[in-house]
Amino acid sequence: MSVRRFMIHSRTVRDGFATLEGDLYNHMVRVLRLGTNDVVQLADENNTVYSGTIDQLGKECVRVEITSTSQAAPTDSPEPRITICQALPKGDKIDLILQKGTELGAADFLLFGGRRSIAKVREDQINSKIERWKRITAEAARQCGRSDIPGVAWRATAVEAARDSGQELRLVLWEGEREHSLKEVLSAESAAPASVVVAIGPEGGFDPLEIRHFTEQGYQPVSLGARILRTETASIAILAVMQYRWGDM
Ligand code: SAH
Repeated sequence: MSVRRFMIHSRTVRDGFATLEGDLYNHMVRVLRLGTNDVVQLADENNTVYSGTIDQLGKECVRVEITSTSQAAPTDSPEPRITICQALPKGDKIDLILQKGTELGAADFLLFGGRRSIAKVREDQINSKIERWKRITAEAARQCGRSDIPGVAWRATAVEAARDSGQELRLVLWEGEREHSLKEVLSAESAAPASVVVAIGPEGGFDPLEIRHFTEQGYQPVSLGARILRTETASIAILAVMQYRWGDM
């Protein structure tokens, strides 16, 4: 098996050793059952890659003795940068979307309160929600060996979510779209765009007014075909398609 790589912060490295605690400790020791003398790679926020060996295993921290250091090209955020602009779904479906989306290489997630979103986020809950969502992307990034962690941001409405867009290609998956299929739209784009944003509605779908907000910001409405997919399926499927068409899949 290839050597596992873990994302760390450069401040955990000192005098030739990296000391890892918390979630990363749990993942390495409890989940992957790594132990003394196991060889690992660590990558920090500057794309420095440290190769080393676990030399101390404590109850709360693990120490890696660093044997070599190199500079990696930032290959873990390949183009296109895909942003998933997702209306908040019910219950814990968002966890699945963040986890699977991270595995499938989403660059970041912009979550918003859809008019038909059943789940609501109160203003005073936003920060703790975002923290929880970021923990999910961090954990998924770690689990799939990605060294960057997708960002998660929140917008209260579709109008605000649409307004943020600077991406080269902007799509809104709309169950009500009858003319343009995803296949058509993708085959019309000859060169791979550097950045893409895809908006996806909640269980109840998009309100036509929301579609207008998106189209006013240059989003093209596209259909995924006659079958209505669940919001989480749509989100996961579009990433797989994009990665196959333009990414590294
Ligand atoms: N309740 C709605 C369906 C919502 S599906 C209805 O019955 O019409 C949830 C979201 O997934 C949609 O808003 C859309 O963004 C996406 N989606 C699901 N199936 C789709 C399809 N066939 N074409 C385009 N988008 C789709």
